[in-house]
Amino acid sequence: MHRTLTFTRLLLCAALAAAANRVEHDYFKYHDMPEITKWKSDIAAKYKDKVTIVEYGKTYENRTIDLLKIGVPGTNKKIIWMDCGIHAREWIAPAFCQYFVKTILEKSTTDSKMQQMMKDMDFYVTTVLNVDGYMHTWTNQSNRLWRKNRSPGPTGCDCLGTTDLNRNFYSNWGTVGVNFSCCSQTYPGKSAVSEPEAQAVTQFVEKISKDVLAFLTIHSYGQLLLIPYGHPQVIAPNQDELMEVGLAAAEAIKKVHGKDYKVGTSPTILYANSGSSRDWARLQGIPYCFTFELRDDGTHGFELPADQIKPAVEEAYSGALHIITHAHHKTFNGATAAGAATLWATVLAAVVTKLLA
Ligand SMILES: [Zn+2]
Repeated sequence: MHRTLTFTRLLLCAALAAAANRVEHDYFKYHDMPEITKWKSDIAAKYKDKVTIVEYGKTYENRTIDLLKIGVPGTNKKIIWMDCGIHAREWIAPAFCQYFVKTILEKSTTDSKMQQMMKDMDFYVTTVLNVDGYMHTWTNQSNRLWRKNRSPGPTGCDCLGTTDLNRNFYSNWGTVGVNFSCCSQTYPGKSAVSEPEAQAVTQFVEKISKDVLAFLTIHSYGQLLLIPYGHPQVIAPNQDELMEVGLAAAEAIKKVHGKDYKVGTSPTILYANSGSSRDWARLQGIPYCFTFELRDDGTHGFELPADQIKPAVEEAYSGALHIITHAHHKTFNGATAAGAATLWATVLAAVVTKLLA
């Protein structure tokens, strides 16, 4: 009798453990890096016809940087780029990337528009770009507000983890909105693209840039949609269109939970900066480049309470979808002679901008 009971108990424990392993990923909780890594392989297994994990670099501490490539097989496909977590402490950003991936995949089983988008475009989503920094913010509360990567600075620097990756790209590097003291929050690195994380994005995106329609880089906080450029004297050739698309995306965001997002260039609505990945992407000729600064407006700042994850990612999804839909529609449904002329004007203007930079 006693033996039977023990055996039954063992069976019960095994069943409970199996159930715990199958537990659904909670999209409205913050997850540490091991949980996110597990989630990536689970989602790639669940949607194996649509998702592949692509490794494209290493961090300073030799961790893998990868992205989820999402789409269905096709020819001459275009690309939507999204990255989250370039700044370590902005936890809502990786939460958004996870929600974005889940939502487009769920929609792709029922929604004909999303099915068409996945035939025409692949989504390249990096859930956490600054892996070392993100892991550092999870080590203890005193590191929770870490922003930069973890590479050592120049010889004699007293700080470990020195470079603001979003000042390290080759876009007016080191000119405005940076501080060359290596311990500062906006130290841009020893030189442009000195950091392995920025190198990974640069080398990977350079190879595909002619096919990338949109480059969306997700941050917090401030409730802003920032368009190129961070340098006040450099103007994107398609600035008017970027403003128009951005304002419509902000309207889409507001409809979800009533939050106001401001739209503009960084110097106009935030501060001037240089070396950002968004500006670099625009200089590569990628037309729709946006920085999302998600919730909130400063009440909780980088430590957005978990009960706001759901509304924050739902509204941001709406904004991102608006931009992506616009890029898709213009490329696949709006190919007219006028469109071609605009494209040439854009390319020429981009070249001029590059010379100015
Ligand atoms: Zn940021």
